[in-house]
Amino acid sequence: MKKLALTILTSSVLLANGVVNVYTSRHYDSDKIVFDAFTAKTGIKVNLVQDKIDPLITKLEQEGKDTQADLFMTVGAGDLYKTKSKGLLQPYSSKIVDEKVPAKFSDKDKTWAGVTYRARVFVYDPKQINEKDLSTYEALADEKFKGKVLTRSSTASYNRHLIAFMIAKDGLNQTQDWAKKLVANFAREPKGNDRDQAKAIVSGTGAIAIMNSYYLGRMSVSKDPIEQEVFKNLKIFFPNQNDGGTHINISGAGITKYAKNVKEATALMEFLVSKEAQEILAQTNYEFPVNSEASPADVVKSWGEFKASEIDFNEIAKNLETAQVVADKALWK
Ligand code: FE
Repeated sequence: MKKLALTILTSSVLLANGVVNVYTSRHYDSDKIVFDAFTAKTGIKVNLVQDKIDPLITKLEQEGKDTQADLFMTVGAGDLYKTKSKGLLQPYSSKIVDEKVPAKFSDKDKTWAGVTYRARVFVYDPKQINEKDLSTYEALADEKFKGKVLTRSSTASYNRHLIAFMIAKDGLNQTQDWAKKLVANFAREPKGNDRDQAKAIVSGTGAIAIMNSYYLGRMSVSKDPIEQEVFKNLKIFFPNQNDGGTHINISGAGITKYAKNVKEATALMEFLVSKEAQEILAQTNYEFPVNSEASPADVVKSWGEFKASEIDFNEIAKNLETAQVVADKALWK
């Protein structure tokens, strides 16, 4: 009798505590803070496997039914789409997630829900560029920007998504033409990461950089004097405000096909989209929260509201391979 009582007690403690195993390609300090807050609140332990996306997908595929993974997290519509297409995710079922995350930020088949998003913006030098001359990604291919445009390589996921977005929006022929003309406007051969593009401007090369919004937020608290100079002297512009909205990309989470701890994984998804977790993510990483109850970081708020494109993320993802062909033809390194 005593032994039975002890067994029941042990199993109920295990149940009360529980565990969720997360495979993630995100590598931000913000996520660790969120997972710790989740454990403090629920008693559910979070085990993390952090790696680049392709090794993570291969691991999930090889482990099959025996996988430990319950929740999968990554950045970018393409990688979410790839994971979904390989049948590695199962639909989530949560009223809370449905309520907190607008449908436009999640997969329509509910294999993943958006957690945060980022905008691909222009960062420009107001001494060289009149804001009135800025309008759309398309218009950046205009001859008046010759020698002024900075952006990284087309093989980088962020630019490949931008080109894929342009294909979804404008069609293949127009995007091919755009890419060719945009490359002709480059201030230099693409090199470096997003931040390096804005840094090149303050160092005297080019006038306008295409980059992700959160890097400017991060530069606002950077100790690097050049990044401080970028933040103080350059301005941000959200393209295509009167033409469908700025291109955004999504970071999301989904429950794995063979998850053993579906309840705990669902609880973690619900926590990720709660106001509390969304504000940690938004304020430590300068991304936009998908839950509108959550406030972005002050510096992000200071940029004002903007219209984000609502083109389906799966549609963008489907164009990623074509996007690379377009870039190669345009000699976008
Ligand atoms: Fe990044």
